[in-house]
Amino acid sequence: MRFPFLLLPLAMMMAACSNTDSGSATAPAQSKPRPASSVSARHHDESSYARPDVVKISDLALDLNLDFDRKQLAGTATYTLDWADPSATQLQLDTRDLSIERAEGEKGGLWTPLPFTVADADPVFGSKLTIEAPERNDRIRVTYSTAPTASGLQWLEPAMTEGKTLPFMFSQSQAIHARSWVPLQDTPGVRFTYSAHVQTRPDAMVLMSADNDPAAVRDGDYEFKMPQAIPSYLLAIAAGDLVFQPISERSGVWAEPAMVEKAAVEFADTEKMIEVTEQLYGPYRWGRYDMLVLPPSFPFGGMENPRLTFATPTVIVGDKSLVSLIAHELAHSWSGNLVSNASWKDIWLNEGFTTYVQGRILEVLYGEDAAEADREVDQKDLLVDLKRMAPADQVLMLAPLGNRDPDEILSQVPYIKGAWFLQTLEQRFGRETFDPFLRGWFDQHAFQSVDSDQFIDYLKKNLMATNPSAFSGEELKAWMEQPGIPITSAAAARSNILASADTARIAWQGSGVLPSSQIVPAWGTLGWVGFLDGMGESLSREQLKQLDDAYHFTGTPNGEIAARWYPLTIRSGYVEARPAMADFLKRVGRRKLILPVYQELAKTPDGLAFAQAVFAEAQPGYHPITTASVKELLSRSTAR
Ligand SMILES: [Zn+2]
Repeated sequence: MRFPFLLLPLAMMMAACSNTDSGSATAPAQSKPRPASSVSARHHDESSYARPDVVKISDLALDLNLDFDRKQLAGTATYTLDWADPSATQLQLDTRDLSIERAEGEKGGLWTPLPFTVADADPVFGSKLTIEAPERNDRIRVTYSTAPTASGLQWLEPAMTEGKTLPFMFSQSQAIHARSWVPLQDTPGVRFTYSAHVQTRPDAMVLMSADNDPAAVRDGDYEFKMPQAIPSYLLAIAAGDLVFQPISERSGVWAEPAMVEKAAVEFADTEKMIEVTEQLYGPYRWGRYDMLVLPPSFPFGGMENPRLTFATPTVIVGDKSLVSLIAHELAHSWSGNLVSNASWKDIWLNEGFTTYVQGRILEVLYGEDAAEADREVDQKDLLVDLKRMAPADQVLMLAPLGNRDPDEILSQVPYIKGAWFLQTLEQRFGRETFDPFLRGWFDQHAFQSVDSDQFIDYLKKNLMATNPSAFSGEELKAWMEQPGIPITSAAAARSNILASADTARIAWQGSGVLPSSQIVPAWGTLGWVGFLDGMGESLSREQLKQLDDAYHFTGTPNGEIAARWYPLTIRSGYVEARPAMADFLKRVGRRKLILPVYQELAKTPDGLAFAQAVFAEAQPGYHPITTASVKELLSRSTAR
């Protein structure tokens, strides 16, 4: 996924105990997920009630009706099961705000009811569903429906879409939201294949993280197959007025009709990106690679749903200057989707590796300086964040999460510190050694879920042993277990693009002479980000006006620029920007871009009142994840 922004506690919205419990055999009881004895502590996932040491789902078959009016998915989930424990009597699944109608087991081709209980809801983990299966059926089926408030689904009215004709819905399952739309072993430690039959209104197209057919006829009845085993957080669905435009034989864009052309132009380099990554790390193993452009309310930059990356439209800026997002999501086809973290405390194995690979793709496609600029912006952001983060959250190998929501631990640390660690290894051992090492990691752990201890073992055997003086055990320990960036890191990234922007800004602040029109076209979005990031606390009205007259920052369609410009105008008391700022906050729901604006507004009583008024209007269009973040931020400010 890309991209978290702040370490904000996300009190996810839980409907209070809305679970039905029709076939209950025993009294429901609340319980916390707890360690399974036969799994190593590092591998164990604290965020799931599942017991994969007892039984594992190997295949999931969904048969669902997708009802826009009721904001509901309803139907059956059928599991093919591998029982590891011959004395097991129960299947335990994760659910959140689901209504469970029935559980059945298959024996000799006949389906018979099985008793089940739904425990009271835990505010973070949801409700454990326990199905009594003393005969350890090969297949078990659950009939259920979702709540309109399902934390992993967003339902948009037609007015909130680009075309304004059809409603839209999409899922975001990572980290533990799949359980709000399918009862599952909702842990990255369990992988399963899946198929789905989805029915909805005939004018809506449905897509999943599966084998979407570019030529599918829109008729309200769709079949999907995902033959590669994936963890639950990669289960994804979207529906709406979606059309397809190809980019290459195996790649293309799905989007609303008004957006698809622009998106295909912006993402035109996707096939080249796939080829570059294949040369480095082996074949792309998932068949097609398509992208789905979501409405602006998508709370993240992108989500690496296999075969179908979900992407924010805020990266479509007309000059490909933000396609690092596509490089990132594509890279997940190796790091994360192919080799997944077994639990969320090891998320750096997904995101750090992906951020590293993203840099390698950008370097080949757009040159070393463009890759360096991307890293430089990331690293500067990380260093700012580290100053306000608890030391325990700054380590790569996070402590067991206990009762914490895995969404809460998603900071920049696993992404950027993780990538910085791998860059350091690359520098010490040289690419000729490091590249095959990394490819070997992907090849040898393909379609597996892994933990940090496994990576450390692999690193010691296959890289550190080849050149014992290049990188010491103490250094490794510092990277894994200590806060901050170890002094043994690769040098901080320095790009010509950002150096040019720095020089231009310093000159302008001294003399009032704007950057030369000869140099700015080469900057792209990242150059402007660097230009604005260094402005300091505030500027005078005249200075802001001069920049606005020259570059029209107020009202910019570029969200990355808006996310820097509006906070600067707030700190400087430049109220002229407020109407455009309000429009921006109402139009975009990507957390990384809007939270800095809300945060700056919330620092003064007048700004806070303005922020609350804008939020009240914007909220119906926000995703539940964004709503929770903004609410949390504003309530903290009110309490001060
Ligand atoms: Zn990611």
